[in-house]
Amino acid sequence: VAKRLEQFKTTIFTEISILASKHNAINLGQGFPNFDGPEFVKNAAIEAIRDGGKNQYARGFGVPQLNAAIAESFNKESGIVVDPETHVTVTSGCTEAIAATVLGLVNPGDEIIVFEPFYDSYQATVSMSGAILKTVTMRAPEFAVPEEELRAAFSSKTRAILVNTPHNPTGKVFPRHELELIASLCKEHNTLAFCDEVYNKLVFKGEHVSLASLDGMYERTVTMNSLGKTFSLTGWKIGWAVAPPHLTRGIRLAHSYLTFATATPLQWASVEALRAPDSFYAELIKSYSAKKDILVEGLNSVGFEVYEPEGTYFVMVDHTPFGFENDVAFCKYLIEEVGIAAIPPSVFYTNPEDGKNLVRFAFCKDEETLKTAVERLRTKL
Ligand code: GLN
Repeated sequence: VAKRLEQFKTTIFTEISILASKHNAINLGQGFPNFDGPEFVKNAAIEAIRDGGKNQYARGFGVPQLNAAIAESFNKESGIVVDPETHVTVTSGCTEAIAATVLGLVNPGDEIIVFEPFYDSYQATVSMSGAILKTVTMRAPEFAVPEEELRAAFSSKTRAILVNTPHNPTGKVFPRHELELIASLCKEHNTLAFCDEVYNKLVFKGEHVSLASLDGMYERTVTMNSLGKTFSLTGWKIGWAVAPPHLTRGIRLAHSYLTFATATPLQWASVEALRAPDSFYAELIKSYSAKKDILVEGLNSVGFEVYEPEGTYFVMVDHTPFGFENDVAFCKYLIEEVGIAAIPPSVFYTNPEDGKNLVRFAFCKDEETLKTAVERLRTKL
């Protein structure tokens, strides 16, 4: 294994999903729905494949109609008008968008600030780029941004800050005043902002604010999103990056040599998805609120300290009332003896100690499954 990846292992999500099926456990670990995306989007993909002419390489940076639909929905969400031809790049999932952004815009030795806990791919991507990861830890119960630590993390070497809101794994939605602070530091130190907003349609409390929409930020921001979470199509791997042309140039160059283009018929179907009526999003929130309530109430009643999520489909809890040594030991017991798989969050920290009291559960499952999971916890934990 190359040095740039030496310190990494198989992702925790793969590891836990394999264990879950081995022990026949209910998988509340890896964040993927156990139900399918909407019929109208699936049918659009079937038609695109069947009708011909939509099965060869797409234009590298995206099927024009999809670039246009992305620009439209970005405008609706953030109020910013962008030219789909020069500001939008379609990628193979948001994970590729992040990789293309970091590889296309950051030099080896540059520093990238990332909030801890962080989604695991960020650290590996930063390592592959040769950049240096600077972390700022957000701590329970609020997972607030520690202002002094954040200020101290910025230096003349800082090239970018990576912000994920709504936030995986904590379920936090960054409040406007924290984003204002981040924006002012970005401007003061002339740095870029890379924003992963894949859970922006899953907000239960407060409002989602795009960093790009704050004063003077669009010109230094890459906003990334995907189809997977919003449309329960995580396996399609359709993502995108929206950024001004001077940043899009680097992103597109990296993307050209990483994956070149993304699955053509699925891009056509994504055009239909992004044109979904507002009622689709209202339904989505309604159904996810019910799921969240089942799991949050269940976990509370079983005795966890629950950090109720404001967004995403994850919930973090503190497992210390159960007396286990750490999160890994607790999750092992949970899979083997209780029949529930969850993610040990120490993998989301540079110092595993910081995550040892926590566990992350996913609630992107049908209500029956969530109720059965709560029942298992109640009787077997
Ligand atoms: N985003 C998903 C999660 O956090 C997992 C994606 C993956 O398995 N790489 O659970």
